[in-house]
Amino acid sequence: MAGGVSTVCVASAVVKSFEEYEFLAEQAHGHMCAGQILGLRLAIYGLKLLGIEDPTGRDRKRLVTFVEIDRCATDAIPIVTGCRLGKRALKFRDFGKVAATFCDLQEDRAVRVVARETSKQRALELHPEITNKNQQQMLAYRELADSELFSEQWVRVALGAEEFPGYKGERRVCEECGEGINFKREVIREGRVLCKACAGERYYTLL
Ligand SMILES: [Zn+2]
Ligand SMILES: [Zn+2]
Repeated sequence: MAGGVSTVCVASAVVKSFEEYEFLAEQAHGHMCAGQILGLRLAIYGLKLLGIEDPTGRDRKRLVTFVEIDRCATDAIPIVTGCRLGKRALKFRDFGKVAATFCDLQEDRAVRVVARETSKQRALELHPEITNKNQQQMLAYRELADSELFSEQWVRVALGAEEFPGYKGERRVCEECGEGINFKREVIREGRVLCKACAGERYYTLL
């Protein structure tokens, strides 16, 4: 598995080879596609900017990632960062953008990386000989420089401790439905403890 040569094995942020990341991404996502390549590159770039070198080992408790789209690229990001929903380290904000914010909890800083709107056009310019768009973009997204694929901004992510891994809060019970609620997700309404569903944020209707 180890040791593939890669054109975009950028800087020291990469513990695995890019080929190895591709293999893992394809397994997790179900197919290989341009979005996987872009997502891998985006995450590798984010970690490089933060100087996080071993996200799934030594630095595994250092990172929280926010993703802004529920499309292919998003599946590739945890392959690099190790941030998973079930570890409270992966957050989804549905903005419909190929973008992610990487928060370094140790250094208390965060960087938001966005895929450039021009990336598809750059892929076409780089490989006009490839007519299949997915193939064209997959190859180009492996080859293009970080600066051609992404822009970044340093940001502050202001969230309560309960949003981050390791938070242990009191478990409450909804006074309406009787279901348990963790991590301060309860709502206090006229002195009563309610879950978000009973407080009016239900995304489903009861049949
Ligand atoms: Zn895909
Ligand atoms: Zn309830």
